[in-house]
Amino acid sequence: MYASIGGRRPSAPRTSRLTVRMAVLASTVALSAAGLAVAATPSSAATCNGYVGLTFDDGPTGSTSALLSVLRANGVRATMFNVGQNVQSNQSAARAQVDAGMWVANHSWNHAHMTSMSQSQMQSDLSQTNSAIQSATGVRPQLFRPPYGETNSTLQSVAASLGLRQVIWDVDSQDWNGASVSQIVSNAGRLQDGQVILMHDGIQNTRDAIPQIMANLSSRNLCPGMISPSTGRAVAPDGTPPPTTPPPTGTPTTPPPTGGCTATATTPNVWGDRYNTSVTVQGASNWTVVVAVTAPQRIVTTWNGSPSWDNTGYVMTMRSNGSGNTFGFTTMMNGNSGARAQIRSCTTG
Ligand SMILES: [Zn+2]
Repeated sequence: MYASIGGRRPSAPRTSRLTVRMAVLASTVALSAAGLAVAATPSSAATCNGYVGLTFDDGPTGSTSALLSVLRANGVRATMFNVGQNVQSNQSAARAQVDAGMWVANHSWNHAHMTSMSQSQMQSDLSQTNSAIQSATGVRPQLFRPPYGETNSTLQSVAASLGLRQVIWDVDSQDWNGASVSQIVSNAGRLQDGQVILMHDGIQNTRDAIPQIMANLSSRNLCPGMISPSTGRAVAPDGTPPPTTPPPTGTPTTPPPTGGCTATATTPNVWGDRYNTSVTVQGASNWTVVVAVTAPQRIVTTWNGSPSWDNTGYVMTMRSNGSGNTFGFTTMMNGNSGARAQIRSCTTG
């Protein structure tokens, strides 16, 4: 259910520009043991001279988790225009979008051509979708994208009455139309400060294009941002530290060796709503490290280890899995922005 072929797509480029935002932030790149750059995000690792809105429509789908993995690996936060009935039938995927730092928005109940609906049908379609999204994620949508980009004044006023700002797009990636990875990357290369690009959940080429899209944006000092519910333009994410204020850094913890190895934690990346922790183990190649976060913080993603959890969900036991002696994880702050993950122990085996 992608943007219509031959459908009317009111995608005339908008010319107004937001004030260029300068977010000069510390440049940090965490290197995993494999030498792979992980968790560096242009929104905090690069200089942001502007923001663009990356949007993914029609989810959640069976490949939402794959999309979220790629987005996380590239430090991307994006807006997911979800179809209500997909949310209802896959609530955990919608929740995973939010847990991964994405913004969730309304893309109608079942992707109908809404301009042929009556006003009351529009009203019930959008409010049913809002309810499904709120019930699955706890987040009330503030943005609405009409299916196929087809809209009229009645639909816009119904959306507004439900607290939804209509957002179309400035750039169409053409991923719904069979565009190749390089075509998608090239289309995204047209994005300018404040603009929004249409992409879709459920398309392999789209997922494969993300690393190159991010490299291109980064080279132009553009960062992925949120879409402002008041202007419909891409802006700095809520919680982004103001310019010249360095992001908070956690105090690395280095407990005494407790079982033949030492684990050292650093906090290479901190965003407004989450942070990454990188842990390096010395003294053993086959290790078990226990880490705890402070409620209501939650670890949502890990890499380079095999995690298990106690029954509270706040204590993670990470075991080596052959990926080397450095592992990492992302913790959602959930309102507790001060605490950092603590190492409890490091044992051999
Ligand atoms: Zn759609």
